[in-house]
Amino acid sequence: VRVKLDKHVRAAWLTEHTGLGALLRALPTWSGAVTLNYHRIGEVASEAHDRGVISATAADFASQLDYLGRHFEIVGPAELAAEPDRSGKRVLITFDDGYRDNYELAFPALRERGMSATFFLATGFLDQARLSWWDEIAWLARSSARDVLAPGSPLAEALPLEGDRERAIAELLGHYKRLDPELGPRFLDSLAAGAGLVRPDPAAGEAMWMTWDMAREMLAGGMTMGGHTVNHPVLALLPADRQRAEIEGCRARLDQELGQPMRWFSYPVGQRDSFDNVTRRTLTEAGVRLSFSYYGGYLRPGGWDPLDVPRSTVDARMTPEQVRAVTVLPRIFARW
Ligand SMILES: [Zn+2]
Repeated sequence: VRVKLDKHVRAAWLTEHTGLGALLRALPTWSGAVTLNYHRIGEVASEAHDRGVISATAADFASQLDYLGRHFEIVGPAELAAEPDRSGKRVLITFDDGYRDNYELAFPALRERGMSATFFLATGFLDQARLSWWDEIAWLARSSARDVLAPGSPLAEALPLEGDRERAIAELLGHYKRLDPELGPRFLDSLAAGAGLVRPDPAAGEAMWMTWDMAREMLAGGMTMGGHTVNHPVLALLPADRQRAEIEGCRARLDQELGQPMRWFSYPVGQRDSFDNVTRRTLTEAGVRLSFSYYGGYLRPGGWDPLDVPRSTVDARMTPEQVRAVTVLPRIFARW
């Protein structure tokens, strides 16, 4: 969910000021699978919610697809699971969470090109109108006026005096991710109260998520669907029974609505410590064959972990050169 801009800025400088772009294209090739992770397609500047999850504009996404289709073999998790150690330059395109713009903007662009992507759905967002916690935090932090901030409130603490509000949002999101998920609602209450705002109506979130009809249409159109829990908690922070409820609940809804077993999964937040041995065991029992993390890296043939398939971020603030660098030299540029 969060983006580290500094490394992208560094990579941009490298690729644009040292002729590295040309050098990269001349370097010896890699082998394995690079999995790109997107969240939303849209416009950063006009977004009232979390801008960190906007991965590309529709136009940028289209040109990324054209580039990827020209240079790589685009595969899905089923191909990866069937031939795990095949050499070659395979690229997987994945989306997390289930945002409606995936259906409205990403799906047509993929279908037009005969390409496929995998969409990991947090089923609770499709089942019940609501804002995600990261979108609500970003909205509250961006909507509040500085002079109404209650001293000692989470936002007042995160926002430096000459406040960079986007940085404060990133700080609050980082805080929330480390929080016991039981305390989440109370944190949002206190953030809203301290910001002098009323928490947004859940109905405000309804149009942000795809419907099950949309998911079925995407499936029929050649897309792949996977699980991403029900409520998007950091699984490792939950006791075993709650982890099971999140994984089993997601599996059951995908089965009911899409008529498919949950074979592919991605961990909410996806850092090394976002999942643990309980998560792994529960996923295996639920029939999951591949589960994707989100802390960078790419898959190299031989000895990789099917419950920790590495993924690399695509972010709207990356230049075309930077996005290409991830797939041209993943050893260096495949990062979170
Ligand atoms: Zn997610």
